[in-house]
Order: sequence, then C-alpha cells, then structure tokens
Amino acid sequence: MKSIGGYQILSGVWVFFLLLFKQTIALSPDEIAAFGARTFTDTNTGLQGTITITEYDELNYVITANGIPDHEAGPYPNDQDSSVIIEQDFVYYILKTPVQASEVTELPMGTIGLALNGVPYFNPYTRIGTNAVENELFDSCDGHPTPEAGTYHYHDHPSCVFDLESGLPSEVVGVALDGYPIYGPNDENGNELMTADLDDCHGRWVNGSYQYHITQDFPYILGCYTGVVDDRNMMGGGGGPPPRQNPSGDPPGQDPSDNPSGNAMTLTCRGYVHLLLLVVSLSVLF
Ligand SMILES: [Zn+2]
Repeated sequence: MKSIGGYQILSGVWVFFLLLFKQTIALSPDEIAAFGARTFTDTNTGLQGTITITEYDELNYVITANGIPDHEAGPYPNDQDSSVIIEQDFVYYILKTPVQASEVTELPMGTIGLALNGVPYFNPYTRIGTNAVENELFDSCDGHPTPEAGTYHYHDHPSCVFDLESGLPSEVVGVALDGYPIYGPNDENGNELMTADLDDCHGRWVNGSYQYHITQDFPYILGCYTGVVDDRNMMGGGGGPPPRQNPSGDPPGQDPSDNPSGNAMTLTCRGYVHLLLLVVSLSVLF
C-alpha cells in the first residue's frame, strides 16, 4: 500500500469480501417478512400497533414502530401500577448485513431490540440492577409500561407474541438493535437451549450466521451486543429513545453533513479485524 493504486486495490478487495459475507449473515427476507403487528385495538390507548422495516440506504434498513401492543395489555393504570401506555415514535437503524464487533457492547437501559410486533425488548435489569423478571410486575402478556415515557416492553418471553413449541425448531421472534435476529429457545433440531448453551451475549453461530435466543433462564433475551450497533440506536435511556422524526421525515439528531452510508461503512469496517489482516496479507501480492 505505498501508492494510491494500492489503496484502490485494497478498496476492491474490501468490496469483494463485503459482498461475499452479505450472502451469509444478512437478516433474511423470510425473517423480515415475519415482522408485523396483528389487527388488534389496544384498549388502553385505542390504537393499533405498527412496525415497518424498509430500506434506508445501501447498507441500512430503518425500522419504525409505535410500540403499541397488538394483544391484551394491562389495563393501565391499575391498583398496583400507575403507569400508562403511551404511543412511541421508534426509529432504529440496522445494517442489512450485521457485523460482528471486535468487542461486545454492554446493553443500554431501555430498548435493546424489537419483538415481531414492534414492542421493545428491554435488558433483564431493573433501574437498581436487580432481576426485572423476578422483581417487576407484568400483565398477563408479560409486558408493562415504563413509569415516565409509558413505553410498553418485555423483559423475557412474551407469551402473547409467540408460543413456545416443544420439539420444533424455533422461529425468529424479533431483532436486536445490532441487526442480528432473535430466535425462540429451540435449536434447529427442536432441542431447547438454555443460557449455558449460548455465548455471553446470549447467541450462537448457525451455518455462518449469528442469532440470539430467548431462554427461560437469566438473562432471558440478550446478555450484550455481539454486533456493531449504530450510535443512533444507543440513545435509549430508561424508557426508550425520544421521538426522532421531524415533519420533513428526515431523521433528526443527525448532522446534515453526516453521510449515513459513510458512517455505516466505517462501522462495517471496524468489525472485520480478522478480515483486515487477511486483506493486508493479500495486498502484499500487489
Ligand atoms: Zn420493565
């Protein structure tokens, strides 16, 4: 890489490898097709749930959802919980081809992924760091709203979103905000997985693709992020991210000079340390 030409060759090799890997680890069309809210009017808000996954640019999908459950919820408020469910304006960006990060990322409070119906999955902790599943109060569909933002969410398997089927391979049940799919608890042979069967982030590699699994034991959904997470997805705080749609439809909070494609490519490149070593080796040939 002592000349401009050398860099051009290096770029070409990069694109070749990115295309190669795009074929193996992207969220599949079947997985994307599994997302959608059922026709159900939430009695708390009088609204129906929405979720869309559409192409944002060459490298990213944008996911929008209003966070309204498409099943019985609450009622909220009630005698034991003064929280109410409030419509959200979720906008998340995921790489079409998720990229394994060189180091795992700690989960934020707030949304860590979305279920098929657009309702957020949260991490397994309460605000004081205890086990949320053991210490928080949920409705009959395993969800509840946050006190301030009214973000309805799940901390473990949402029984009104999908069924646990014993002996059958699990289907996709959501997506993490690093773009990797979340599956139910069974492996490809229908055997139930537990946390001990998974890596620290609560996932595993299957035929060259990475997927998280929901299990019956702690941490239930995710332990950390394996993949690179778009910075715009890390603004969750407790209770989900603030609205990020302005009237023009552009995603605010983003510097106008900020090229989203360039950002994503930077993120993409960061994850491929092992590939970089291979590319450097190849470039010696030139
Ligand atoms: Zn909670």
